[in-house]
Amino acid sequence: MSITVVGTVAFDAIETPFGKVDRCIGGSATYFSVAASFFSPVNLVSVIGDDFTEQDASVFKGRNINLDGLQRIHGEKSFFWSGEYGFDLNVAKTRETQMNVLAQFQPRLNEQQRTADVLFLANAQPDLQFDVLKQCKRPRVVALDTMNYWITSARESLTRMFGEVDLIVINEAEVRQYTEEANVVKGARQILDLGATTLVIKRGEYGVLMVTKDAIFAAPAYPLENVFDPTGAGDTFAGGFLGYLASRREAHDKELRRAIVFGSVLASFTVEKFSLDRLREITLSDVLERYQDFRALTHFEDVDR
Ligand code: AMP
Repeated sequence: MSITVVGTVAFDAIETPFGKVDRCIGGSATYFSVAASFFSPVNLVSVIGDDFTEQDASVFKGRNINLDGLQRIHGEKSFFWSGEYGFDLNVAKTRETQMNVLAQFQPRLNEQQRTADVLFLANAQPDLQFDVLKQCKRPRVVALDTMNYWITSARESLTRMFGEVDLIVINEAEVRQYTEEANVVKGARQILDLGATTLVIKRGEYGVLMVTKDAIFAAPAYPLENVFDPTGAGDTFAGGFLGYLASRREAHDKELRRAIVFGSVLASFTVEKFSLDRLREITLSDVLERYQDFRALTHFEDVDR
């Protein structure tokens, strides 16, 4: 089954305790699409400027990613984000955001994008997410990501979106920020009460907590010893998770748990190098091998029970 993602295709500048890069490819839709395309076809909807070259676009080449929705605005620059991390790689500090082409981005989806089975609304202004959702024809699963900025600056719009989607991918700190509740399980319940069936809480190196109306499932992150750059881990996780789910006929609990592990496995590759450098060099057999390793290393038998 197919997926449509609406998000950013960007240039990033990143500094971590282990290195620094002044300009590399990034963006929520970039990480998401490459990860999801290991399992399912993806329609990418985003916007770039003149500065995004053929060479840059080769990140999508040879993958099951339809680029009809990658709009180029002439005379403008691509979205740019610059951030840094200290030794606690779970906390990103934004140095600079240049909206550039994103400032005038009003996605208009074509028939193929509108009729996809799964819709992923990557982190964006919640009214823009709403507008995209209203263009779609009853996707089987609608998921969204958000960030701290929208929780403070567009709280009402975000609350409306929480009631419109099936699945919310969110950081632990954002659950606390939105609900003003210290206990994450209580906070998760409050958000689920707004309408979604599933909340996937990202906890950085500690893994992921999935909360549904009647179950909780926790998965550790793949136990890597060398984490280089966490940028894109969240979007890669979402791509692996939804890509795997879209490849299954049914989204029952066991498949949801497997999807969480596949998302974690894909994200573990992203953080091994800057940008999509590691994600680009792996194959599906590397993913499947690490999935088996993950189960063995963590005694994670519940995944297949
Ligand atoms: P994450 O998976 O959360 O680490 O997302 C990383 C990507 O999100 C980076 O490659 C950035 O280009 C992109 N990004 C950063 N800030 C924003 C924003 N305000 N809106 C959309 N995308 C962003």
